[in-house]
Amino acid sequence: MDNRNLINDGIDAKDLPDRNGYFGEYGGSFIPPELQKVMDEVSEAYERISRDPSFLEELKDLEQHYTGRPSPIYHAKHLTAAVGGADIYLKREDLNHTGAHKINHCLGEVLLAKRMGKKKVIAETGAGQHGVALATAAALMGLECDIYMGEIDVMKEAPNVSRMKILGAKVISVKSGTRTLKDAVDEAFKAYLADPVNQIYCIGSVVGPHPFPMMVRDFQSVVGLEARDQMQEMTGRLPDSIVACVGGGSNAMGIFSAFLDDKTVSLYGVEPAGEGLDTPNHAATIGKGKVGILHGFKSYVIQDGNGEPMPVYSIASGLDYPGVGPQHSYLHDIGRVKYTSATDREAVEAFYALSRMEGIIPALESSHAVAYAVKLAEKLGKGKNILVNLSGRGDKDIDFVLRNYPLVEYEPDEKEENKYKEFLSHIQKRQ
Ligand SMILES: *Cc1c(COP(=O)(O)O)cnc(C)c1O
Repeated sequence: MDNRNLINDGIDAKDLPDRNGYFGEYGGSFIPPELQKVMDEVSEAYERISRDPSFLEELKDLEQHYTGRPSPIYHAKHLTAAVGGADIYLKREDLNHTGAHKINHCLGEVLLAKRMGKKKVIAETGAGQHGVALATAAALMGLECDIYMGEIDVMKEAPNVSRMKILGAKVISVKSGTRTLKDAVDEAFKAYLADPVNQIYCIGSVVGPHPFPMMVRDFQSVVGLEARDQMQEMTGRLPDSIVACVGGGSNAMGIFSAFLDDKTVSLYGVEPAGEGLDTPNHAATIGKGKVGILHGFKSYVIQDGNGEPMPVYSIASGLDYPGVGPQHSYLHDIGRVKYTSATDREAVEAFYALSRMEGIIPALESSHAVAYAVKLAEKLGKGKNILVNLSGRGDKDIDFVLRNYPLVEYEPDEKEENKYKEFLSHIQKRQ
């Protein structure tokens, strides 16, 4: 299969993955035969639809009039001045409808579902960000939407659960196992297998079996393609470095994909170092993982001696995943992208810095990229340009940050406090 299509036209290395879904030795499809049949159907449909000009036209129209694309690039002058080194630019994915980059691939996936004649989209969600973006796209296109979410996460992420319900999605609280993301994935796959004709599984990042790592990357590539033109228009040249946070890796693949062939552009993926890489509490998959198989694909995985994925941790729930997209593992091995990390503490400092200096409250996920960009700006010095993919806005994180890292006075009311204690006791039981 030739991967070139209308959606990824313009991105570099679009020959990858190969026809079996491999990026070098990573990716592929490690799933039961009955699921493989379903995935083959998705592959065929994507191949057909992604070459159909009317699909591209419909997607572009939604991106422009619904999401608000192109997202602007902002020169963070105050942050740049405070650091005193390279100029820092932000690709403002936080300004998209629903507040993050996830809407880019959700619109593509739900449009595909509709064209395949599906009635319902299903997915798992951890913190609820993917669930909300998918529920939004499903509401827009008139499809049913079932979101599987661990019982613990349902409790922890109440506002996102409310959002999904208001948007008309059904939130299924998963009570098995650790009652978190991994169990939600298992339940969602079970439900998918029970009715693959009327439903389609919409994965939330560049992970999972082929064709999802390719498809989600293609839908996110609009970020890099826009940024390439915008930076040239603003500065007269390409940026010297690009920085993005990496959970599963979709926002990073989105911005990197248009610059892979530009050898003058250094690319940095920032993984969550949590409480430190020398503690068990991080989610730095490429930094600390080993090659293995997780959720139907081969990649770096944080795993125990038996190849079982281990619990991981980050202050940013969107980065809290023991695997990473297979193209990232490949780009790491060939040395095209440098993978580094930022701790919780560094992310919080960057969160406040951007809020106070630029009036932009970033998502804690994106704050990891900002934290590394600040270090890099010092190192590179004046005259160089760094472009950061600001993957989302921090509205969802404000209560958590104020409570745990108060820089300003904060007095929660009693009712809030009790809810918080209840949640903490659940977390403690889990450990
Ligand atoms: C979900 C999320 C991420 C992490 O997902 P990737 O697939 O690694 O991009 C990063 N930033 C924000 C704002 C998110 O919501």
